[in-house]
Amino acid sequence: MLAQADTFLQSVDQNFRHAITFLDLPEGLSERIMQCNSTYTVRFGVRLRGRMHSFVGWRSVHSEHCEPVKGGIRFAPDADAEEVEALAALMTLKCALVDVPFGGSKGALKIDPREWTPQELERITRRFTQELTKRGLIGPGLNVPAPDVGTGEREMAWMMDEFRRANPMDVVNARACVTGKPLSKGSIAGRTEATGRGVQFAIQNYLRDLRTPGIGGRRVLKGASVVVQGFGNVGYHAAKFLSEQDGARITVVAERDGFVANHDGISVEALKQHQLSRGSVLGFDGAKSFAGDMTGIEEACDIVIPAAMENAIHGANAERIKAHLIVEAANGPVTFEADRIVRARGATILPDLYVNAGGVVVSYFEWVKNLTHIPFGLMERRRREHRNQTIATALERMTGKPFPADMRDQFLEAGAEIDLVRSGLEDVMRSTWESIAGLLEAQPQLGDYRTAAYVTAIRRVAAAYEAIGI
Ligand code: NAD
Repeated sequence: MLAQADTFLQSVDQNFRHAITFLDLPEGLSERIMQCNSTYTVRFGVRLRGRMHSFVGWRSVHSEHCEPVKGGIRFAPDADAEEVEALAALMTLKCALVDVPFGGSKGALKIDPREWTPQELERITRRFTQELTKRGLIGPGLNVPAPDVGTGEREMAWMMDEFRRANPMDVVNARACVTGKPLSKGSIAGRTEATGRGVQFAIQNYLRDLRTPGIGGRRVLKGASVVVQGFGNVGYHAAKFLSEQDGARITVVAERDGFVANHDGISVEALKQHQLSRGSVLGFDGAKSFAGDMTGIEEACDIVIPAAMENAIHGANAERIKAHLIVEAANGPVTFEADRIVRARGATILPDLYVNAGGVVVSYFEWVKNLTHIPFGLMERRRREHRNQTIATALERMTGKPFPADMRDQFLEAGAEIDLVRSGLEDVMRSTWESIAGLLEAQPQLGDYRTAAYVTAIRRVAAAYEAIGI
């Protein structure tokens, strides 16, 4: 049983209260920013398997200083209103930190998706969407959900379709009512991988920055050992990019039923195929299995990436976390108390507000694409290609030599949607890192990256409130 001070919402509140001690906000404004504006609880019935089943869900709107509000919807058996409020608060701060024009929201349905067939889940999701639609808690200019734990593009497609049916006179922008949809339903290339891709960029930016301690003094990912907790959307993509592109060794993958380990590195793609076919990472023949053992996150490594749920590192296990660098891919995986313990041991934490912001950044690109009704790059792609071709030809004529064959394709390439999305995400992750690390350098008394991220975000939300006179 966790101590009272360790609940997720309390950790978020304590981080917030700690950060505002470094800010000089007008009286009452910090309370206004911190409090959740509203939380709607919905109970509804769906007739399934010959009888009525009742479900409960929530949608919290944390802050409307900027609209629409944005945040994922999770399907989880242990979801509750307090958890949703904590997640909504993080969304407000995250959007402000990465400078995307959304307020913070979050939703959940208390359900174990594994207990229902896809057809049943579709009916439940559509009923939930009807309730959200009735209350103005979904809509392109109001509130824009996205996938989170237990939901993905399939659920987003159902939600969008249900919203569209409920608004037959306003179908033009209906696609923008959710993000993280399937590509065929108006998503953007790279949305599914976005959060994991952002995790990769966050680690790269940290290691590149000579102001940071790196990982035990080292600054390269090649050969670095990485423990990943949670092998879902975020954990899988982060592990895939770090191992396949940066040469990191994924030595442990911890899941809800135990963990698998291989000191030489686990093949991420092979493990994913095993998980998809068997329903578990356990029993994978490229690693040793530790069934029922929930201590995978404590294994010795350079980098640990908690990418499952909140409170994964808490007061009781923080002393046993051996990683040099803790990269918060999940929301709230390190409690306020554990944060102090692991940092006192010399470890560095890259905070969730920054690390997992890739999802909302690319959701923003998707939302803009839906509202403009034109794919990114369509108007200029060929023009850019012709211009590059002209430059290549001019260089060849001027030098009398052929353009290097190994560079030609890359130079002429004018940028597919996926390239533009990755480049936009990389840009946001880079500039956000600079604002966090730059602030910590200017004000070392802030003490850590989380506080620097909170201070940056709260300042921006405060400025928005002050500008509208609240
Ligand atoms: P997901 O449902 O795709 O994956 C979560 C994985 O964690 C599952 O494989 C699950 O079995 C595993 N898991 C659950 N409890 C566990 C436990 N106690 N120990 C080990 N593994 C456990 O969810 P996701 O979308 O990958 O989200 C993971 C985290 O990232 C959440 O905190 C979520 O809020 C956060 N996040 C997700 C996104 C996104 O775009 N999906 C964006 C920002 C933040």
